[in-house]
Amino acid sequence: MKTNIFKVVLAVFSMLFVLFTNSKAESPQKDTFQTSAGTLEVFHVGHASLYFVFNGKVIHVDPFGKMGDYSNMPKADLILITHEHGDHLDTETIKLISKDNTQIIINKAGYDSLQQGRIMKNGDQTTVLDIPIKAVPAYNLVHKRDDGTAYHPRGRGNGYVLEFGDTSVYIAGDTENIPEMEDLGEIDIAFLPMNLPYTMSPEMCKKAALMVEPDILFPYHYKMGETDTGKFSKLMENVSGIEVRFRQ
Ligand code: ZN
Ligand code: ZN
Repeated sequence: MKTNIFKVVLAVFSMLFVLFTNSKAESPQKDTFQTSAGTLEVFHVGHASLYFVFNGKVIHVDPFGKMGDYSNMPKADLILITHEHGDHLDTETIKLISKDNTQIIINKAGYDSLQQGRIMKNGDQTTVLDIPIKAVPAYNLVHKRDDGTAYHPRGRGNGYVLEFGDTSVYIAGDTENIPEMEDLGEIDIAFLPMNLPYTMSPEMCKKAALMVEPDILFPYHYKMGETDTGKFSKLMENVSGIEVRFRQ
């Protein structure tokens, strides 16, 4: 009897080990889009971390070392940081994927801790690597800490809109369904966060989706088994013109 239990425990541990090592070694899921200015590849690292490859240039967004093996990912030409929270601003991983000429765009509070990069605040626009970039608001309307301050106060964090040729990509950052989402212009591909209490419920995410109206929607910043992804899919069933793609 004892040996049987021991065998079972051993089997479970080796299974977990295999699962763990495989998940680390697995390369991120990829989507490919044809834009007027070249092929855009989107790699979903996990949680809020992703990167784009466009005309040989690599753009990382909120690289977080816990989400994947960044030593196996391409070095960054540009790194976008939405805000200073630990799952978005990871100094060690930024160092790991940086090369001599890597540019960093970051919000003010993130800069205060990283001491590196170029600060963009809500509404600022720039062009890097021939890609027009706009920083847009990202904040909580409803969800607050016990002391009454929002998890993401208005004006602190950024979302970003990037123009890859005629294809516009919106990375929302940590936000709720804020009214400014109506004013983003035409968005082709959107990343909208969905987890509580920090960002949106499935219902809020649907409201956000209806404001942004992307052709392709990647819900992100969610946790499998914790966030009700099935509910979101159900809510979006009768919405035409928005294709929801779950990744990671
Ligand atoms: Zn956050
Ligand atoms: Zn976050």
